[in-house]
Amino acid sequence: MPIYEYRCDQCSGEFEVLVWSARDETNLKCPKCGHTGVRRVLSACVNRNRSAGLSSAPCGPSSGAFS
Ligand SMILES: [Zn+2]
Repeated sequence: MPIYEYRCDQCSGEFEVLVWSARDETNLKCPKCGHTGVRRVLSACVNRNRSAGLSSAPCGPSSGAFS
């Protein structure tokens, strides 16, 4: 189960979400202001290292494939 980091378009707040399926993304809301216009950011490497063991996904240039 991937954990993605998102940034709110409205307040620029960043938060992490455990996404079970692509459909979950359409329902995402900013926890700070409730705005639904959030976009995924790709700084997940640091977060994955912090929560060691969650994922062994590579942190190379290939992570840009999401965008
Ligand atoms: Zn927000």
